[in-house]
Amino acid sequence: MAAPRMQVKCGVNNCHYWQNNLCYADALEINPQGDGKANTSDGTCCTTFKPRS
Ligand code: SF4
Repeated sequence: MAAPRMQVKCGVNNCHYWQNNLCYADALEINPQGDGKANTSDGTCCTTFKPRS
């Protein structure tokens, strides 16, 4: 895998793109959860997440 252009620290260690607390996806898509409007960081969600097989 190529080195990430922007360093994204991530703790989701069961994601396909996760390695050593960094995200190695080529691009990230983040979206609000639930009713479509985030009020806190809890209301945001990484849509790029893919479970590790
Ligand atoms: S895709 Fe999202 S969940 Fe997966 S490692 Fe990257 S930031 Fe974390």
